[in-house]
Amino acid sequence: IESSKTDSSETTVKQEFVCDIPYADVCVLFQEIENISSRLQIIKLCSEFFTKAMKQNTANLIPLTYLFINKLGPDYEMGLELGLGENLLMKTISESCGKSLQQVKLDYKDIGDLGTIAMNARNVQPTMFKPKPLTVGYVFQNLKLIAKSSGKDSQLKKIRLIKKLLTACKGIEAKYLIRSLESKLRIGLAEKSVLISLSKALLINEYNNTLDPDMELIEKAEQKIRDAFCQIPNYEIVINSCLKYGIMNLDEHCSLRPGIPLKPMLAKPTKTIMEVFDRFQNIHFTSEYKYDGERAQVHLMNDGSMRIYSRNGENMTERYPEINVTDFIKDLNLTKSLIIDCEAVAWDREEKKILPFQVLSTRKRKDVDIKDIKVRICLFAFDILCHNDEKLINKSLRERREILHSVTREVHGEFTYAKELSTNNLDELQLFLDQSVKDSCEGLMVKVLDGEDSHYEPSKRSRNWLKLKKDYLDGVGDSLDLCVLGAFYGRGKRTGTYGGFLLGCYNQDTGEFETACKIGTGFSDEVLQSLYDRLKSTTIDGPKATYIYDSSAQPDVWFEPTLLFEVLTADLSMSPIYKAGASTYSKGISLRFPRFIRLREDKSVEEATSSEQIIELYENQSHVAK
Ligand code: ATP
Repeated sequence: IESSKTDSSETTVKQEFVCDIPYADVCVLFQEIENISSRLQIIKLCSEFFTKAMKQNTANLIPLTYLFINKLGPDYEMGLELGLGENLLMKTISESCGKSLQQVKLDYKDIGDLGTIAMNARNVQPTMFKPKPLTVGYVFQNLKLIAKSSGKDSQLKKIRLIKKLLTACKGIEAKYLIRSLESKLRIGLAEKSVLISLSKALLINEYNNTLDPDMELIEKAEQKIRDAFCQIPNYEIVINSCLKYGIMNLDEHCSLRPGIPLKPMLAKPTKTIMEVFDRFQNIHFTSEYKYDGERAQVHLMNDGSMRIYSRNGENMTERYPEINVTDFIKDLNLTKSLIIDCEAVAWDREEKKILPFQVLSTRKRKDVDIKDIKVRICLFAFDILCHNDEKLINKSLRERREILHSVTREVHGEFTYAKELSTNNLDELQLFLDQSVKDSCEGLMVKVLDGEDSHYEPSKRSRNWLKLKKDYLDGVGDSLDLCVLGAFYGRGKRTGTYGGFLLGCYNQDTGEFETACKIGTGFSDEVLQSLYDRLKSTTIDGPKATYIYDSSAQPDVWFEPTLLFEVLTADLSMSPIYKAGASTYSKGISLRFPRFIRLREDKSVEEATSSEQIIELYENQSHVAK
């Protein structure tokens, strides 16, 4: 990176990545990708680009990967978020491209894309001198500086840095620069496609460019990289480990470690206790209360510091200042580091009982002062994944539990083991399920206890963990988390707000949102008003290219994908107008009688219920299952 060009008065960022690839080359590729829809073709173009870049310098791959997925670093690292607001960007475009703010705002109403507006404005702007071409390293470094600008003058600092970049942009560069700053690249490039391209390029590099790998080998490599990424969700570490040790040896050298949140294991839904018994015939299993709170992955590091990560790998340590993991460790001489998997639940200290999830969600997320805490929490621990740097995920659950109990101790109301019962008696399990609900839990988690099937599978929605949610046993077995894609204006009592919403699931293969239903039930007037206030600023002029919908089911307004609703449905049925799963099935699947339960603020839109999950839930319905 041309460090000399970075204004030394700005926030400093470690100058890690040297990458001389012209930024213009990346933008030309982005434009090409934007104009094609074939995923295979996109992967081909990306992997060729990566391969060429690696021939120059293998280190190029890291900033390139981040630019392609429109991020600046791992999700768990704080202060690397872009997603700059449109007002700030409009102001910057106006100031640096010689257009009045009013004109930029009018253009935005017309065109709906700040990137295109910036590009058009730059292209007609007379330049006194020819700017030096932008390189990937320089752009990446400055994007980081922009994201990290904080404090009193942060807006000014950001504007200054963006202007510096914008005035050096030529042609289409301004378009993609602004879109990257907004975190809305909108070229239809799914992270999964980037991962496959990356795997291919790394393979070719490993074989000294003498190999044209076939799909089987690429998929094997991709699986290795994906597995490593689930344990260490950090592209820099994973790519460097591939380069150093070889892709096929990744598992030995790139595995979970305290301080880095691994992607949590997830469960499959079930609808009856009988289904659990069918699945776990002749298998030792155990049941635990399914607590209704927030997942908390607690890390103790060798230097004695502690971190708590959310289900998404977000650093939540600040949210829980009252928790000190060392209070729950039996012997600090014997335990220097660990990772435990817990559920943080709101706890009534006087009544000594669990409080509903809604109470927990009233707690502040950031800057929590220990003196102001009104809602106390208790951690319910259900797994241990690492102890003294030894990775435990490939031990049986029975062994992991024993280790958990041997290294930690319960502190009533602060740290408790998840209540468990190991029985293969149907009546006993039914009673345990009923009791879990009386004790304010959602139901049970039923888990394989012994053998390989009981290993902890990071990131996987596994058949070895089944959830039995009491409230959903009459429906499809689970609630769904769907993305709000559009809305319908309210009528009658709901005039002035939105009266219904168009929801969609996420197709992880294509990066597209497929419509799944229209919803208008389950909302109070207050919720509708706050949804209106919140969503109206995310309105877009028309559906995005990544929205798969039928013209007969179009909403009055379309939104950027920003928010998930948790919804309940009576059942799932084939639909002529909704598109969930349609790329795999001949027809789409939709929800019947959907009902709003709550917002899912802890999930990103890419974590919405996937098309694959909807197909699976659909097929598991008794009238569909063969
Ligand atoms: P998804 O819908 O993607 O599966 P979710 O966040 O909606 O995820 P659920 O499926 O309802 O969650 O259930 C899994 C969650 O249940 C875990 O992520 C964890 O936070 C919580 N949980 C509570 N008790 C337990 C337990 N004993 N074992 C494992 N997870 C538990």
